[in-house]
Amino acid sequence: VKVAALVNGRFAENTYLVIDEPTRQCAIIDPGEDAGLIQRAVEDEAATPGAVWLTHAHVDHVAGVAAVIEAFPVPIYLHPADRPLYDHLVQQAAGFGFLARAAPPPDRELAEGDELRLGGLTLRVLHTPGHTPGGVSLYGHGAVFVGDALFQGSIGRTDFPGGDAPTLLRSIREKLLSLPDETVVYSGHGPATTIGRERRTNPFLTGAARLL
Ligand SMILES: [Zn+2]
Ligand SMILES: [Zn+2]
Repeated sequence: VKVAALVNGRFAENTYLVIDEPTRQCAIIDPGEDAGLIQRAVEDEAATPGAVWLTHAHVDHVAGVAAVIEAFPVPIYLHPADRPLYDHLVQQAAGFGFLARAAPPPDRELAEGDELRLGGLTLRVLHTPGHTPGGVSLYGHGAVFVGDALFQGSIGRTDFPGGDAPTLLRSIREKLLSLPDETVVYSGHGPATTIGRERRTNPFLTGAARLL
């Protein structure tokens, strides 16, 4: 499995291409603002997209869905608890002062425990709410794609509508910190990390942040 990270748009959101190397089939996780960047990366990798998997429906993660789907007509997967956010992506963008295109409705609903398969890829859906109600993490092949739940040295914001800090901390502890230490964490912003590193050093998880 190859993971290509594309730093995308004004929010420096990470769009990921997860590529099954034998077949070159790929999933596009969180198509941010710049769909052209994604198209060029797909071409560079000689990959064939098979699905759009969304960790959550904040505009920085879904602004490119409409254009990506025009280029690659593949099914869109979203947890239903984030559907209200998804249906208001134009308004979300307006709140940040930019224009975004409404996305076509999702084709499939993600749920805890689902297995997503594409070529030789298999990722398990972990419902990790707290940053948004329908936030999910996708786990498989020694990696977990966490959206904005967990970052290197930090955790997701919970001050947006639908956010809840105790819920996010419970999601991280129960669903993410229970994964093997060597699991590579691909976040929605910033560099990759590992579960073990965050367990040991993330001040929001060790309790140190409360002392600041
Ligand atoms: Zn977010
Ligand atoms: Zn984000």
